[in-house]
Amino acid sequence: MNFFDPHIHMASRTTDDLERMAQAGCVAVAEPAFWAGFDRSGVSSFYDYFRQLTDWEPKRALQYGIRHYTWIGVNAKEAEDVGFARDVIALLPEFLDKPDVLGIGEIGLHKCTKNEVTTLQALIEMALLRGEQMLFHTPHLEDKYKGTRMILDILRDDPRVDRRRVCIDHCEEHTIRMVLDEGYWAGITLYPVTKANPERAADMIEIYGPDRILVNSSADWGPSDPLAVPKFISVMKRRENPDKLVRQIVYDNPLIFFKQSRGFSFTQTEDIPNS
Ligand SMILES: [Zn+2]
Repeated sequence: MNFFDPHIHMASRTTDDLERMAQAGCVAVAEPAFWAGFDRSGVSSFYDYFRQLTDWEPKRALQYGIRHYTWIGVNAKEAEDVGFARDVIALLPEFLDKPDVLGIGEIGLHKCTKNEVTTLQALIEMALLRGEQMLFHTPHLEDKYKGTRMILDILRDDPRVDRRRVCIDHCEEHTIRMVLDEGYWAGITLYPVTKANPERAADMIEIYGPDRILVNSSADWGPSDPLAVPKFISVMKRRENPDKLVRQIVYDNPLIFFKQSRGFSFTQTEDIPNS
């Protein structure tokens, strides 16, 4: 079955991964800007990273027949230094205007500090002024509920926010309901250790239905699996879910969500089902 991986960090992955993903049916990926695993020392590091995401990674993926889309932003772990983050935010418009850029992401909270909120509000303001879609990272483990609640409260206070154009990612059992109830898209991340796994994702979809849900690998430089989405497909099929429903989650839903971005184009030939 053809699928999108709507959140993966290909900059941290090898061409072997791209080849295996293509063989498993991956037709497109979306790569949000994120933390490199270490703090970048200056604004020019971000500049080169954004060039990599908007220029080099799309070419590399295309060699394996995979379309590559990008989200550009300042990640929560590097949002604490407000002045530094402001300088990085000033770089964003140049990259947001490039083809195949979906919007501002991944942005959000890590430790839920006052400075993180200040940076986040500047990013949201830029997104709203420019009419960009937004992708939110929610914190890990014990900070997840609080951080998710804080992000939803920030967004709720702003009547300009179109919730159908916002994805709140890394949802788990205790956060997905509020995200869906408030009208946002919910991302579920399949990780070998933290976040969710294919079985838990299938459980959540059985409870809440398939609408406005994106399932992703968020594969990066840590323990993670670029083939997590096809493993989720196998779990869903093993539970005798119809192909149409599985396909909605791994293919139709990302298309519906991404099509709202002016930077998104996906040709009709790639649209033909192949399951
Ligand atoms: Zn990520």
